[in-house]
Amino acid sequence: MTHHHRYKTILLFGAPGSGKGTQGKILGTIPGFFHSSTGDIFRSLDLQSPTGRTVWDYTSRGKLVPDELTISIWKQYLQGMELINGFHPETEIIVLDGLPRSVAQAQILEQTIDVLKVIHLVADQAKMVERLRRRALKENRVDDASDEVIAKRFEVYMKQTQPVLDYYADDKIVHIYASQSQIRVLSEIISLLVPLKESHDGHDDHDEPQGTPAAAAQLLPSSVTA
Ligand code: ADP
Repeated sequence: MTHHHRYKTILLFGAPGSGKGTQGKILGTIPGFFHSSTGDIFRSLDLQSPTGRTVWDYTSRGKLVPDELTISIWKQYLQGMELINGFHPETEIIVLDGLPRSVAQAQILEQTIDVLKVIHLVADQAKMVERLRRRALKENRVDDASDEVIAKRFEVYMKQTQPVLDYYADDKIVHIYASQSQIRVLSEIISLLVPLKESHDGHDDHDEPQGTPAAAAQLLPSSVTA
């Protein structure tokens, strides 16, 4: 893939339990966005396959799957989705959730993705741990089942993943307070994405003269407004 064909991408960034997955899934339902989560992809692998087994060895212990393997699996997934018409790179922006998780991954991805914004979901650790414990019960996630593995995941996040934030230019990073209501977090993310998406689609202000409720009302038949 050549540089000017890099996938337009928004990164969802944050510690385990910060709500990346929840927000990412919702964003992926918006036309023009495609959500992909490496955690979800890894959990969907066949445990009987050699790749599935290898990945499991890392995820079940709260460790990062090796960089090259992670990116190779993610790329295969994306190509598969493109092939079955589930991802349209020309028109869709990728909402990337859980990747890159190390500076090395960010460097390798440089030739594949064009990062438009980094959305950093910030929450306090106690709230995130509480959420992981709840999730362990609800979603049957082995990596959240023990306090040791949870602690390991935070340690890995601090050491290997947090430095990824320094890799990207400051003006690309937006910090969002993740302990607000989910709908407010969503609303803040969407406010950021609207102008990005419109400029990606080639809209500008002059294309949309009917932008206000008053202008919309003018389009109604007079019997409605009378
Ligand atoms: P969470 O959002 O709770 O941190 P994820 O579902 O994103 O969890 O990831 C689950 C596990 O999958 C991680 O703990 C890690 O073992 C593995 N994983 C996910 N993404 C990556 C990645 N980009 N590189 C290496 N390992 C990853």
